[in-house]
Amino acid sequence: EREWPRPDRCRVITIANQKGGVGKTTSSVNIAASLAMHGAQVLVVDLDPQGNASTALGVEHHAEVPSIYDVLIEDMALADIIVPAPEIPNLFCAPATLNLAGAEIELVSKVARESRLQRALDAYDIEKFDYVLIDCPPSLGLLTVNALVGGDELLIPIQCEYYALEGLGQLIRTVDLVKAHLNQKLRVSTILLTMYDARTRLAAQVAEDVRTHFGDVVLNTVIPRSVRVSEAPSYGQSVMTYDPGSSGALAYSEAASEMAHGGAVQ
Ligand code: ADP
Ligand code: MG
Repeated sequence: EREWPRPDRCRVITIANQKGGVGKTTSSVNIAASLAMHGAQVLVVDLDPQGNASTALGVEHHAEVPSIYDVLIEDMALADIIVPAPEIPNLFCAPATLNLAGAEIELVSKVARESRLQRALDAYDIEKFDYVLIDCPPSLGLLTVNALVGGDELLIPIQCEYYALEGLGQLIRTVDLVKAHLNQKLRVSTILLTMYDARTRLAAQVAEDVRTHFGDVVLNTVIPRSVRVSEAPSYGQSVMTYDPGSSGALAYSEAASEMAHGGAVQ
């Protein structure tokens, strides 16, 4: 595979949208895999108690595994939980286990509760990675806030369906609050249209609305609905290795390439 340019400094990209099922995890895993397959060193931080990103990367995340919970709640070093993703060289994961569900509550009484992930990233030599991708749970709770405080960039996946834009206002308001009080450098760098069904007029309309509203940050590449994409996680793989020639894999590779080459922005 041809190598893509690598950033001068590590790009920490948070993937968030409080709506469930819009393609956060799928996009995190497949973009991370694409970047790693083109020569970048990539870390996926799984911040969802469901641990779907860990599963999709083929990484163990049963209750005994040292996980992002231990980092956020028990002050464990990030270095002590990071493991390689078995299928792809240069790709690593900070796994999530189910006890992370409790962290949403446990964080409330912690000092600097919004900045615990940022602190862990700062204490770790993240410059050994070119990209850190943080996969968020489907809520705007403290876990997602930690991801917004820890990141430089926000990638919002938007599913091309009728209610797509509902709730985005709330997400943007949260981003603005985080920017004003906790993390000045945060910016919405990338919007990715997911699960696009080219046969429906509605999908085209939603895509057009999103482009009108968000302009340049919307990637040109649109991710089509593809069965292969949804099958891959059950084999502990990204679609990039499960079926590299599928429409989903090709689209995620295009999207990742756009991001590596300066995205729609910069
Ligand atoms: P989120 O992390 O936002 O909750 P997921 O990435 O888990 O969303 O995606 C939700 C569901 O949709 C999953 O079952 C996933 O496999 C499926 N899915 C995601 N993207 C696609 C796609 N492009 N084509 C088909 N299925 C998809
Ligand atoms: Mg998810």
